[in-house]
Amino acid sequence: MFFGVMPVKDDGKHRLVTTTCTYCGVGCNFDLIVNENKVVGVASNPKAPVNGMHTCVKGRYGFDFIHHSDRLRQPKVRRYLLEGGKKSHHGSAGSGWKPTGIPPSTSRPKNSLKPVIPPVPTVWAS
Ligand code: SF4
Repeated sequence: MFFGVMPVKDDGKHRLVTTTCTYCGVGCNFDLIVNENKVVGVASNPKAPVNGMHTCVKGRYGFDFIHHSDRLRQPKVRRYLLEGGKKSHHGSAGSGWKPTGIPPSTSRPKNSLKPVIPPVPTVWAS
């Protein structure tokens, strides 16, 4: 098993999972090297249509966030929005984030959006 630009073979202990890089819009493909459901490295994939055997340093080595303890694992909504309170600027009751499922997190914005500019009389002239 070699990491980096060397070829990697699926050896039964490690498996390769082809994915698309999330760092920028180029859309490079490569293989994640996975051991016991943990990403331990990145290998080039010769079939990658955009980048071939190349990835930049972010794509090749920037995978430690995947298993980071601070990574969001589900959507969160501001607690005051779910509980009908007012926005707190001082971190008091009603502040913070509440983990939710996908439906509450996507329906909340459409129910909470207010016009940014209040309607005012307007006259257009030229
Ligand atoms: S490997 Fe680098 S260039 Fe390619 S998508 Fe990721 S960040 Fe962008």
